Amino acid sequence: MARRPLVVGNWKMNGTVREAAELARAVAAGLAGEGAEAAVCPPFPCLAEVGRVVDGTGVALGAQDVSRHRPGSHTGEVSAEMLHDLGCRWVIVGHSERRTGLGETDETVRAKLDRARECGLAPIACVGETLEQREAGEADRVVRRQVDALLDGAGSEAVAGCVVAYEPIWAIGTGRNAAPEDAQAMHRGIRARIAERSSAAADSVRILYGGSVNDNNAAGLFAMPDIDGGLIGGASLDSGRFAAICRAAP
Ligand code: PEP
Repeated sequence: MARRPLVVGNWKMNGTVREAAELARAVAAGLAGEGAEAAVCPPFPCLAEVGRVVDGTGVALGAQDVSRHRPGSHTGEVSAEMLHDLGCRWVIVGHSERRTGLGETDETVRAKLDRARECGLAPIACVGETLEQREAGEADRVVRRQVDALLDGAGSEAVAGCVVAYEPIWAIGTGRNAAPEDAQAMHRGIRARIAERSSAAADSVRILYGGSVNDNNAAGLFAMPDIDGGLIGGASLDSGRFAAICRAAP
């Protein structure tokens, strides 16, 4: 089955509302319908304005996180219902900066994924190993555990409607991307793990690579058969580089 490449910009905790709107305008103008399916994930306070800017442009709106809770007394949290109301199509769950920096567990990530799906949002579920785990030869085991947690929660058929992002933690924001062949080996392993439960889900699920993707290395990564696009941090803050990455998808 042909899987349409997807490139998602994770703007992290950067910019003001005005700067985010300007960046969104430049991204939409730079893409003009070309290349991969594209989405941008601005910080929460910028979602409404960026949503207005990208509406009707072909660039989809996503959020960087979602509450695991239903609406109610959860101070500071943002519900899946609120994100849906703002026009989000996508939501990132389980980013390593939340798993390692904020103590999110597989169980939390799974609860967030379930909440997102219940509200019609498509989750982008991040998995990936630390440098220590890779050097100890544990990368496959760690990523398999994270993927199993997603499958156990959502169920294998439901995973077909999600996107998995393989983001080796040692490659995020370091300028040191995984070699295309190494990333491909992990992506193939993730797809094989999903296929053990459902070959249809494994065929259709898009698996993105994230970790220091830029306009120079994107084409080599995206040429791999199991790499279906990218989750882009730093380079997504530059509309020209982000557009070039989107155009690098086959
Ligand atoms: C990310 O944070 O998801 C990411 C991939 O960041 P960077 O592209 O900057 O490595």
